[in-house]
Amino acid sequence: MILVLLGPPGSGKGTQGALLKSKLGFEHISTGDMLRAEVAKKSHLGLKAEEYMKQGLLVPDDLIIAMIKNILSQAPHKNYVFDGFPRNVNQAEAFETMLNTMGLQVDKVFYFDLDDDVIIKRLSGRRVCPKCGATYNIYYQKPKNDTLCDNDNTPLIQRDDDKEEVIANRLRVYKEQTFPLIEYYKSKGKLFVVSANGTQEEVFEKLKSML
Ligand SMILES: [Zn+2]
Repeated sequence: MILVLLGPPGSGKGTQGALLKSKLGFEHISTGDMLRAEVAKKSHLGLKAEEYMKQGLLVPDDLIIAMIKNILSQAPHKNYVFDGFPRNVNQAEAFETMLNTMGLQVDKVFYFDLDDDVIIKRLSGRRVCPKCGATYNIYYQKPKNDTLCDNDNTPLIQRDDDKEEVIANRLRVYKEQTFPLIEYYKSKGKLFVVSANGTQEEVFEKLKSML
């Protein structure tokens, strides 16, 4: 079975992918991790990808598709969950073509739906301890002492990525790319909408009931 997870930043789709792996034995494929692993292995494709990454360029779709094909061809009958890929309709079409050549297909696409105001609170409320890496949320998971880490009393920081003006931009880019993708999978009858409100466990239960 091949699943694809779609959802805005802050929707917890990465966490759900990790749960599918730990609880149900899926292979969890995040393209970011896959790229880093190929570069570290110095594989033929990894070295090619590194040339683009070094220049701050996006790794071309055909290179990413070739890496995915390598992974799938080693164990085509395992269950896979893709997280962060495909990102747009072009990638989805190329992915489909490649899968078809292997007699495979995307079986289900889960879209984690969350209102913009909740996304913004989840992301803009995030605070991180620069010393131990603990994360908090000033709306949902406050530290005991306002602005200090519970573990070591270090002042918490907000990552640049989580600042409100940056979040607004991330959301805009996400919507431009992802909405056509949602329509694409909907038209193929593969789209399942999961409300991403609630705890990780609650969302995972909903997801499991749709598998
Ligand atoms: Zn700390």
